Amino acid sequence: MTPDVRDEARRADRPARAESRDEGGGGPRSAIAEADWDRALRLISAADEVALSCHVTPDGDALGSMLAVGFALRSLGKRVAASFGDRHFAVPRLLRFLPGQDLLVPPEEFPAEPALMITFDSSTFERLGLLRANTAAAREVIVVDHHPSNEGFGTLSLIDSTAAATAVLAEQLIYRLGGRLDRDIATCLYAGLVTDTGSFRHSSTTPAVHQMAARLVATGLRTDEIARELWDRSPFSYLKVLAGALERVMLEDGLVWTYVTRVDRAAYGLPYSEVEGIIDIVRRTDEAEVAVVLKEDDQGAWQVSTRSKGAVDVGAVCVALGGGGHHNAAGYTSHDSVEETMAAFRRELGKA
Ligand code: 5GP
Ligand code: MN
Repeated sequence: MTPDVRDEARRADRPARAESRDEGGGGPRSAIAEADWDRALRLISAADEVALSCHVTPDGDALGSMLAVGFALRSLGKRVAASFGDRHFAVPRLLRFLPGQDLLVPPEEFPAEPALMITFDSSTFERLGLLRANTAAAREVIVVDHHPSNEGFGTLSLIDSTAAATAVLAEQLIYRLGGRLDRDIATCLYAGLVTDTGSFRHSSTTPAVHQMAARLVATGLRTDEIARELWDRSPFSYLKVLAGALERVMLEDGLVWTYVTRVDRAAYGLPYSEVEGIIDIVRRTDEAEVAVVLKEDDQGAWQVSTRSKGAVDVGAVCVALGGGGHHNAAGYTSHDSVEETMAAFRRELGKA
């Protein structure tokens, strides 16, 4: 970034924080202290190698933030290993367009005892999956995140629950490192910003978010191509699996919900990551305040996606059920049956 763009980023950052609202169960956490940024910069400048991780089954914000910072660190001459702890390590198809995939290594090749590790968008230690042992063995762990439910599992927290996306904090980190915002970095950050703001539709979309988007778009990235990669394409089999999920959708007392089994997907050879978007169709239901989609992963566990229109804090509900997230978008993992999972969810929802 040029110095004046950096100033703009700094200025743009301030009003957003003053105006932003609490989006999460744990309440807003104050903006990150300068002393913490300084400590992060000292740790990074002292390191030859930096190990980066994001949460399992990464979304655009997790992977985009990690790869953007990976680019910046590499251009500063650091060795970079970036990964996420999925048992079957594969970048979800819809994120394969992101530049910087050569920064990625499978969890087996991740440093066993990193001197310095940075985690992105992971609200719990659990969400690091196979990389938990590496994280536990790391000398320093910087946690970069915007989930209000973040448990602060590192040695240094760069956590700001008023940030619309982890990508907002990643951009801050990059400019504080003296990094330049090029088109590759901007593409990764934009993927994070556009994912977590629901294409600039959610209430987290402040003026500062649009100003950040303007800085990113000014590098020449193709927002139309990014949008198509993220939301406007899927294999034909997705329509078949979606049809099955919609066939059995239930509306009960302000709650709309459905589920997708691995057998449904196997019948059409559809990978798990392709069903992430079903919640966006289900949640539009006028008669429901809360939407839930249970997605059975390849290991047979239910990944539960929940959404609220604002009156209910699904983040708190999901934290109570062992997961995490935000006020209006959260999730958790269940190893029970569909019936048991929904019974437990309704119980917690009743308390919220
Ligand atoms: P999604 O439904 O899109 O997978 O996730 C919505 C939000 O809930 C995201 O912010 C995500 O990080 C969080 N989330 C989803 N699943 C889990 C989970 O199993 N554990 C935790 N801690 N958070 C989750
Ligand atoms: Mn995020």
